[in-house]
Amino acid sequence: MVIFAKNVSLLLAMKFKRVVVLTGAGISAESGIKTFRDSNGLWENHAIEDVATPEGFARNPQLVYDFYNARRKQLLSPDVTPNKAHIALANVASRFAERFVLITQNVDNLHERAGNTDVLHMHGELQRARCVRSGKTITTTGDIDGHHHCTCCHPSQALRPDIVWFGETPQYMSQIEAALCQCDIFVSIGTSGNVYPAAGFVELAKNHGAHTVELNLEPSAGKNNFAEHHYGLASVIVPQFFNASMK
Ligand code: NAD
Repeated sequence: MVIFAKNVSLLLAMKFKRVVVLTGAGISAESGIKTFRDSNGLWENHAIEDVATPEGFARNPQLVYDFYNARRKQLLSPDVTPNKAHIALANVASRFAERFVLITQNVDNLHERAGNTDVLHMHGELQRARCVRSGKTITTTGDIDGHHHCTCCHPSQALRPDIVWFGETPQYMSQIEAALCQCDIFVSIGTSGNVYPAAGFVELAKNHGAHTVELNLEPSAGKNNFAEHHYGLASVIVPQFFNASMK
């Protein structure tokens, strides 16, 4: 059962000026997209080293293209749609406007489809492909492989999925760090707290005075860094939390 300390939350609501939310794979689980760690470190039955590292791409590029092509195709399935948690965040965003920052580790487009316009995809986006030389990205909903080339370089170069793999630098880090240092509430949703630097965001926000909240199915690796916790399905606890605390 989820119990909310309503009075505390209402009191906090009066103080909220800047809200930062971090989401992970757990927010999309009920939309039909498997989390990273659903089955012992495998992602959709693949070893992470094979499909989410630069070394894996160098070893077997076709396997990696195929893996992300399948993930991209999945986003077009009528079965994959934003759930109530994505929608709740779109409502908060419309209320707080530029005082709300949404950071996601997810590479799906469910936040955008729920109505969030400015999403910081720190680990990249499935529906983008990136030139291996210039780093410029293009939007794509179709498959890419080693035969697709950029139009930005001469001679044109190969395209790769615009996914930040393990060992690579996440995107938007300066914007993210600035937002974490300025927010007065930081809410982490559906993330296991195992992947850095995202797992360290709570400490940065806390050290700059933010109230910190974890909304997850189960306690995360960094649970002790959060002042407030609610455990349950994202589609239930995310709307409940924001309805109770942002009145
Ligand atoms: P993770 O798989 O490590 O952890 C997911 C967390 O979500 C777990 O703590 C789990 O308990 C929780 N969870 C599962 N179902 C939930 C639900 N219905 N409601 C609330 N919480 C739920 O994922 P992570 O922490 O985001 O880190 C893994 C990496 O995987 C990310 O970098 C991301 O790029 C990548 N990834 C992305 C997607 C996506 O875009 N949807 C999917 C899989 C993996």
